Order: sequence, then C-alpha cells, then structure tokens
Amino acid sequence: MAMRLILLGPPGAGKGTQAKLLSARRGIPQISTGDILRQAVADGTPLGKEAKGYMDRGALVPDEVVIGLIRERLGQPDSAKGYILDGFPRTVVQAQALDAMLRAMGTPLHHVVAVHVEEEALVERISGRRTCGQCQRPYHVRFHFPKTEGVCDACGGALLQRDDDREETVRRRLSVYRQQTEPLLAYYKGAGLLKEMAGEGKIEEIAAQIDRVISNAR
Ligand code: AMP
Repeated sequence: MAMRLILLGPPGAGKGTQAKLLSARRGIPQISTGDILRQAVADGTPLGKEAKGYMDRGALVPDEVVIGLIRERLGQPDSAKGYILDGFPRTVVQAQALDAMLRAMGTPLHHVVAVHVEEEALVERISGRRTCGQCQRPYHVRFHFPKTEGVCDACGGALLQRDDDREETVRRRLSVYRQQTEPLLAYYKGAGLLKEMAGEGKIEEIAAQIDRVISNAR
C-alpha cells in the first residue's frame, strides 16, 4: 500500500539520513527539496541561480519556487507508490499548497513524523556533517565516519562540507526553522497527523522508532 509521509524537524535532526533508510526499507522515493535545489545549483540551471543566494545565506527559497518543484515531482510516476518528503513543507503556505495539491490528486498524507533534537546538539551535528559529492551519502566527522578519511565508502567520491553547514549559517537556519517551520507542528497536530519522537540516539534506533510510530498510528 502506498505510504505518503513527511519527516519534519530542524536542520541536523537526521531527516535526510532517516529518509534514505526508510526509502530503502519501504521502496518508496525520498523527495528532498534541499537535494533538488543543490543539484540545480550544481548544474547551474536558472532555478539553481535563483536559489543559490537564499541557500548560501541560510534563508528559505521563496514558497512559489519550492511549491512548483514539488508539484512537478509528485507528478512523476514513482510518486504513485508513495514518498517521504524531507525538507518540505517548511512554511504554513507550503503546507497549505501541499494540502490543496494532494486533495486534487486524491492522495492524502498518512503521517507527519516530527523529530526533536536539542539546539546545541544540532549545531554540533551539522557543523561536523560531510556529504559525498557524488552519491550524496551522509557522514559525520565524529559520529559516522567513513573507512578511509574523506572518501565515500559506497562510491569512492570525495566527502565535502556543504557551504551552508558552517556554524554562523547553521544558527541562521535554526532561527528560520523556529520562526517559519515550527508552526507546522501545530498545523499537523490540528490535522491529526502528527507523531512526535526524540531524534537523539543511534541512527538504527531512531529508524526502528520511526517504523514503530508509522505502523502503530493510523
Ligand atoms: P536542506 O537540505 O533541507 O537543509 O535545505 C537546504 C536549503 O535549501 C535550505 O536552507 C533552504 O535555503 C533551501 N530549501 C530546501 N527546502 C526548502 C523549502 N521547502 N522551502 C524553502 N527553502 C528550502
């Protein structure tokens, strides 16, 4: 059965890591607006050129831009079996647009899983984060390092730090999260979809917890 869910949480909460694991377990795609935007920046497309300034500052890309991206992405055939939204929606306007889209498509959301992590832990996690420049697999200098330093275990690509993962930008992103994204907790609670959980602990434990949360609750 198709499963459509949102992983919600501040930058550094582990959404990307958990979305990848869940995607592999359930055979449904991870849809990350951050990944789509970074790819557009790397490819130098008009979308990438528009988005880059916002991303480098740790600000949100305008709602209509990301809503357009998601509309297009959800129209692709692999979305029919469900998906994990990672990093979208990030504002109430985006959540409302998503609701309208899903209503029109007759494909309601099943779960919104909110992952909570203390702010100082987030800063430590994000500033130590490294990502493979080729396959985007995530690593961390303290918590999850590769067999060979600086080299991706999976594909041999070089591990890089995202431009927006430097500490001052991280603080900005966290404040944007509190102001613009946190209101979504109340929004989805009101819709009866919200499942909250602690995001501290081992990656596999959190993955198991997400599985429990989405299999129990309906
Ligand atoms: P992420 O990888 O999800 O942390 O996203 C990286 C950056 O991409 C964010 O700091 C924003 O600049 C931009 N971005 C990603 N998703 C969204 C979204 N849903 N709305 C606005 N901006 C976004």
